[in-house]
Amino acid sequence: CGIVGYIGTSDTKEILLKGLEKLEYRGYDSAGIAVKNNQETKVFKEKGRIADLRKKVDGDFSGTIGIGHTRWATHGEPSVTNSHPHQSADGRFTLVHNGVIENYRQLKEDCLNDIELVSDTDTEIIVQLVAKFAQEGSSTLEAFQKTLSLLHGSYAIGLLDNEDDHTIYAAKNKSPLLLGKGDGFNVITSDAMAMLTLTNEFVELMDGEVIQLLADELIIRDIEGTEIERESYIAEIDA
Ligand code: GLU
Repeated sequence: CGIVGYIGTSDTKEILLKGLEKLEYRGYDSAGIAVKNNQETKVFKEKGRIADLRKKVDGDFSGTIGIGHTRWATHGEPSVTNSHPHQSADGRFTLVHNGVIENYRQLKEDCLNDIELVSDTDTEIIVQLVAKFAQEGSSTLEAFQKTLSLLHGSYAIGLLDNEDDHTIYAAKNKSPLLLGKGDGFNVITSDAMAMLTLTNEFVELMDGEVIQLLADELIIRDIEGTEIERESYIAEIDA
C-alpha cells in the first residue's frame, strides 16, 4: 500500500525496489514496478514479498523513468494479474494506484463496455479510461484530468505514457502522495522516508491537483487546471 516513482538519469530499477522496501512497513500482499526506456515500458510484478519481485526483474533492461507499487488488495484477490502496475488494453498507459475507486462498476458499465478487463481490480478502469480519452483525441494531461473528474473514492496515482519519454503524471485524493525534488531528477512517494537516500526536499500535494513530473521540472495544476507554485520543505528525518 505505497507508491514510488522516479524520473531522472539513473537506472530506476534499484531505486524503485529500495523505495518499495522502505514502504513495506505499511503492509502489502504483492508488489510491482514499471520501467520505461525509449518508448518501451516493461512491467514486473509478483505476489508476495519485494524479495520475490526482485527475482522477476530483468536485470538487463534499464530505464530512467519508472513507477512502483506495493498492493494491499481491496478489490480482487492477491495475484500476479491483480498486482499493479496495470496497463491499458492498447498498451500505451501504465498505472499504479493506492486507494479505492467506489464507482468503478458504474464507470465500467457507462464508459468501458467495449473493453475486456484483465484484472478484478477497481484500479484497472482508471488506466482504461485514460486510454479511451486519449484514443478519442485528448492529450494525456486532458485524458488524465477527465478520468480523475469521474472517480469517486480515494487515490494516489502514478501514470506513465509510453509515447512520452519525459513525464510521470500523478494525482491524489484522500491518500498520501508527495513530490521529492533532486538535482536532475524528481520523485513521487507515499512517504518521504522511502526516498530519503535520494533527497530530503519535498513538495506537498493537495487533493485534486494534477502533477507532471519531469526530470528537471515539477508542474502542479490545481483542480481547475491552472498552474500553481508551491514552496518545497526540507524533511528533517534520518534515512
Ligand atoms: N484498490 C486497489 C486494489 O485492490 C489498490 C489497493 C492498494 O491501495 O494497495 O488493487
